[in-house]
Amino acid sequence: MDFAAIVAEIAEEIAPFRGQGRVANYIPALGAADPHKFGIAVATRDGDVFSAGDADERFSIQSISKVFTFTLALDLLGESLWRRIGREPSGSAFNSLVQLEQEAGIPRNPLINAGAIVVTDTIVQHFDRDRAVDAILSFVRQRARSEAIAIDQEIARSEAVTGFRNAALANFLKSFKNLENPVEDVLDVYFNQCAISASCSELATSMLYLANSGEDPLSGDQVVSRADARRINAVMLTCGHYDASGDFAYRVGLPAKSGVAGGIVATVPSHLAVAVWSPGLSPQGNSLVGTLALEKFSAKTGLSVFRA
Ligand code: GLU
Repeated sequence: MDFAAIVAEIAEEIAPFRGQGRVANYIPALGAADPHKFGIAVATRDGDVFSAGDADERFSIQSISKVFTFTLALDLLGESLWRRIGREPSGSAFNSLVQLEQEAGIPRNPLINAGAIVVTDTIVQHFDRDRAVDAILSFVRQRARSEAIAIDQEIARSEAVTGFRNAALANFLKSFKNLENPVEDVLDVYFNQCAISASCSELATSMLYLANSGEDPLSGDQVVSRADARRINAVMLTCGHYDASGDFAYRVGLPAKSGVAGGIVATVPSHLAVAVWSPGLSPQGNSLVGTLALEKFSAKTGLSVFRA
């Protein structure tokens, strides 16, 4: 398949839609993003990257970081992780408090904020507070093959200053005894992981282990077991877009995870990984133009887990 031509075609076709959607503005550093930006990168298992638009510009990965922490936690804890988190779609907003109260402090899945905070707690528990951020960052750098990936300190600080809902979720979890470490420590690591900056090219490369049965195809490292890779893809497919996960599965049909700064990563198991970025969001908090680009990608290539 001529991926260079396909991504160039997609960039051209989405051009009239650039600028649509609402840029996240809960912190100034995200609110300042240019809604006209658009990048797309496809990384194949033999190490090629095909990109178009602003694919090499770094942006805040935000909730895409939840895939990396979920991977680390599942690998560390195995099945016992599921005593503390479910694996069902939430049908609710990313930061909803109501469900957590109703369901006695067991978050629906690891890709909503409450679940991701529990996941981060397991990482803090394992690596201890001071090493947890480094462990997450070095995992991302290794997978993306880029030592230049870093945490945007301004974003990390602003997340902490405005993170009242996340603090509420963490306190709720603590009250239900589903947080082992101090709330402040877990939130600090969570805000730092959200503030990691990476480009579409780096993110597409970083997801290759999920497109290759858990093995990083470039280094040969078995990052997670084949079974866990399948499970992570399944949770991404069903839960990766908050309360728009069904719509994304219908339109694109790929395991994927979105972030509130407009990034989306998707995997085509046994083939490749793809990342898009465009800051304008849908009302559910997923990149509007990014989703459109991925819809075009699966239509043009026929690559979808539901391929008939
Ligand atoms: N930092 C954001 C939050 O926790 C991440 C949400 C997202 O990317 O969807 O509120």
